[in-house]
Amino acid sequence: MSSLSTFDAAQERAFRRRAFPSATAADWADWRWQLRHRIRSGRGLERVLELSADERRALAAPDTWRMPLAVTPYMLGLLSRETPGGPLRRTLLPDVREARTGKGERRDPLGEEAHQVAPGLVRSYPHKALLLATADCAGFCRYCTRARTAPAPLGGRPGAAPPDSGRALAWLRRHPEVRDVLVSGGDPLVMSDARLEHLLRALRAIPHVDLIRIGTKTPAVLPQRITPALARLFRSVRPLWLSLHFTHPSELTPRAAEACGRLLDAGLPLMNQTVLLRGINDDVETMRRLNERLLHLGVKPYYLHQGDLAAGTGHLRSTVARGRAILRALCGQVSGYAIPHFMFDPPGGGGKRHLFPGGGRGGD
Ligand SMILES: *Cc1c(COP(=O)(O)O)cnc(C)c1O
Repeated sequence: MSSLSTFDAAQERAFRRRAFPSATAADWADWRWQLRHRIRSGRGLERVLELSADERRALAAPDTWRMPLAVTPYMLGLLSRETPGGPLRRTLLPDVREARTGKGERRDPLGEEAHQVAPGLVRSYPHKALLLATADCAGFCRYCTRARTAPAPLGGRPGAAPPDSGRALAWLRRHPEVRDVLVSGGDPLVMSDARLEHLLRALRAIPHVDLIRIGTKTPAVLPQRITPALARLFRSVRPLWLSLHFTHPSELTPRAAEACGRLLDAGLPLMNQTVLLRGINDDVETMRRLNERLLHLGVKPYYLHQGDLAAGTGHLRSTVARGRAILRALCGQVSGYAIPHFMFDPPGGGGKRHLFPGGGRGGD
């Protein structure tokens, strides 16, 4: 029950020697090396992975991608352990169906642009705000709600120019009703320690901002990022909560567990947000394993999101009825702590709604 996904130190080492023969163990453990060596093209994947015809077809047509491709060497190791079309591959590798915009899908499904009050600052609720600190990510999830802000797939830029958070901070200083700031992106933890420290200290210096939260996928795709220095910085700006983004139990490796442990030791409460994904995690057994193992690591499953109506994500979206059925089944099998709230953010920016518990009966 508590066993971790098998990508232990010996397996990591064997993978590194095969796929990155010139990299040392110190390189592999260095988050900057991992970021610099992200795989950004089909050619880089082909070198290491056995690919299906569908995967090849999508990788050969970058003009159809809704987002850039970015896979850390660490994550490539996990992908290499899957068969073609496997669940983690589908979260990170493009699909030709991304070029299709389905019914009701939008470029900006949550209406964030209409709620932008300063560059990179979205305010959809009276007392909380979302600060988009960078557009770059360690790994671009194919179902991302914010594909519109990602760097261009063909640009070859290893990271978009960061927005200057100065105006967002100035706005927050003038708005004492905002007491909760969620720092997200992109992934704020791809920024340097110095930039993060500057931003977090500036937020902490605003007297009415009580709660700071950070949304990050790095413990899943780049666990090396959680260094002792970063944990010390986080510790010093508490109260700080982290929203992690584990999607599948295969991401819960010993290295990911170590990253979570380091954050917990620094006194940070850890929550997890997952998106319900068709054929990836939308079954009872996968959700049970994911949420039970997260609890075991000290991470509270917080939200399970019904996929946003983001353009080009229809092939990855599961159904509300399925999500409800999975959670109902889990209620009889696991600790109540392991049951996330099932949420939907309808198009137009009206705010999140509860689908389970509560939220009425029935289908889609
Ligand atoms: C989801 C969200 C938040 C945080 O919502 P909680 O339900 O408090 O976790 C804040 N701002 C925006 C724009 C959001 O979409």
